[in-house]
Amino acid sequence: MSEKILAANFKTNHTRASTRDYVGALDAGMEKMGYDAPVYLFPPATALESFDTRSDIRIGAQNAYPTVKGSFTGEIGLEQLGEFDIDTVLLGHSERRHILGETQEFVAQKYSWFQERDFTIVYCIGEPLEVREAGDEAVRRYIVEQLEGIDTSYGKLILAYEPVWAIGTGKTATPDLIEATHATIKNLSDRPLLYGGSVKPANIAEILAVPGCDGTLIGTASWEVESMLSMLSKVKGEK
Ligand code: PEP
Repeated sequence: MSEKILAANFKTNHTRASTRDYVGALDAGMEKMGYDAPVYLFPPATALESFDTRSDIRIGAQNAYPTVKGSFTGEIGLEQLGEFDIDTVLLGHSERRHILGETQEFVAQKYSWFQERDFTIVYCIGEPLEVREAGDEAVRRYIVEQLEGIDTSYGKLILAYEPVWAIGTGKTATPDLIEATHATIKNLSDRPLLYGGSVKPANIAEILAVPGCDGTLIGTASWEVESMLSMLSKVKGEK
């Protein structure tokens, strides 16, 4: 069985009811194929719950505020996560950085706060198109900036390299580019490193075969459970 880590980011998709159906079908499918590696699932905040699954499905929050509780309208904190025993959080996603305006300083503050509370943190980094076009050294510098204030040796950190130009666009980075960029990132941290950006059943095996790729973070192609199970079956076939 492959030791690859797969993670699914629902973003603003699925309801509580459809998430329950999804988790039920995923659990049954994983059991049927004997898939025993962990799968991280990030449903929207309204669909968080403590699911009782036979397979190793780990539910995480797509975002949370660095507080136990308080006056932070629209946010959720530790108290809301604790109700469902959630101890995994996704931080630094490009949509939060670029659409919602999260600064590196704020992302790093969240990171430290959840690190102090022993959370598993899936931390996203990745360059926009203009930086990629400026060349490898510009990409390296950009990624170094996204690691500012981040304890990259934290034992419960999982990194995800997600080039912004490949997210939700259908444009996947080539295996050579993923390999080269992962090598750069691995010089900065020895934690597991996922690739994310238009991963789908048709390309997941090729991406997971890239040296230095420890798994994938999947958006769009994870939203249908049949597609997710198809990717898991490909991981299982991987040696
Ligand atoms: C993501 O947003 O984390 C992501 C990888 O999205 P997609 O798979 O849709 O590119």
